[in-house]
Amino acid sequence: MKKIAIIGGGIIGMTLANYIDQKKYHVTLFDDPTGQATSASAGIISPWLSKRRNKQWYRLAKDGAGFFPKLIQDFQLDDTIYRQSGTLLLRPEKQLAELLALAEERKKNAPEIGTIKQLSAEQTQQELPLLRPHPALKVSGGGRLDGKAYLIQMHKLAEKKGVDFISQRAQLADTTTVIYGEKREVFDQIILTVGPHLKKLLAPLNYQVDLRPQKGQLLVFQTAFKNSGDFPVAMLDGEADLIPFSAGKILLGATHENEAAWDLKETPEAFEQLTNSTRKFLAEPERLLEQSFHYRVGTRAYTSDFAPFFGQLNDHLLVASGLGSSGLTTGPYIGYLLADYLNTGNANWQEYQKELSNYIQFEKTLASN
Ligand SMILES: Cc1cc2nc3c(=O)[nH]c(=O)nc-3n(C[C@H](O)[C@H](O)[C@H](O)COP(=O)(O)OP(=O)(O)OC[C@H]3O[C@@H](n4cnc5c(N)ncnc54)[C@H](O)[C@@H]3O)c2cc1C
Repeated sequence: MKKIAIIGGGIIGMTLANYIDQKKYHVTLFDDPTGQATSASAGIISPWLSKRRNKQWYRLAKDGAGFFPKLIQDFQLDDTIYRQSGTLLLRPEKQLAELLALAEERKKNAPEIGTIKQLSAEQTQQELPLLRPHPALKVSGGGRLDGKAYLIQMHKLAEKKGVDFISQRAQLADTTTVIYGEKREVFDQIILTVGPHLKKLLAPLNYQVDLRPQKGQLLVFQTAFKNSGDFPVAMLDGEADLIPFSAGKILLGATHENEAAWDLKETPEAFEQLTNSTRKFLAEPERLLEQSFHYRVGTRAYTSDFAPFFGQLNDHLLVASGLGSSGLTTGPYIGYLLADYLNTGNANWQEYQKELSNYIQFEKTLASN
């Protein structure tokens, strides 16, 4: 039986581990979760109304969102992990007609967007009583995923299937050898799903990777809204979004801090930024912003053109990274596509990305020194 190592246990690595055919491969997953994006994430799955012009990214994000019904069925994800809550987009009245037209157009190729409805200010407040009256667009197909709960479920299922987990930082000695602690182990294939750490991990093998880290912080409030589990997600007009989960838990996030890079400190500036931009949308701000809260901090991975990349780098290494701020949406599908490639040999991903060489280059000069 062939041996596979997955380095990185975020949303890609953990999904991949569960979809790999365990009759063909023995899988070992290495993960040191420091700064992990998946467990720090906000949870919004609603890519259809993005104004990004990158068509390959949009196809990937659309198909990633459309993949959720299969994901839910394959891994028994209950409401506490994923819920199709619907999404509200709060925008000034005059922008809503344009957004509605975009949504209707995109629905032709993405029926999973569900029903699209322009809401009056009062209807929006009825949908989400936290809010002041404000006009919005509602798409019923939008959802929210609890990244941490997803990983716990996927870990449990993968362990049952026979995946070995090693909670340690791993390095590469060469394209087939993983070093962890005092040990070295050789694998037939190694899949690197380490988010922004890919650059560091591949540097000793003389690969240059186009990636930068970005810090993200969000606030997790514990409120008295007992029915918060039924609330839709609200994408506010500005930096912050409201993502309600069950039992009164409501997330407010997230920051996008390029200069802070790898820093994982919780900062009062993030609290100020997120709460100040949200206050004007709330009916009774104190019912959210003055409740007990804690921070979540994680590091996203960005490429120069803000697009993800994934695929076979050489005979023994596969990679996936650069998911930016939409990786909960695209990550499970990327994990599935990589597993399908390992299981069947079919690489069904050309329509979703540029060539890998746009993001990773082998430096011959470095190698020959
Ligand atoms: C605050 C915040 C809010 C977000 N909100 C959303 C959202 O609402 N919707 C959405 O779609 N996306 C969102 N995202 C983006 C999304 O979370 C990420 O794009 C996605 O989780 C990236 O998944 P990944 O598997 O590539 O990386 P990660 O989740 O970062 O996983 C990589 C793992 O590899 C580990 N690792 C790294 N190096 C090594 C090593 N050498 N050895 C062992 N382990 C290693 C890391 O520590 C980590 O555990 C958000 C991100 C942040 C930070």
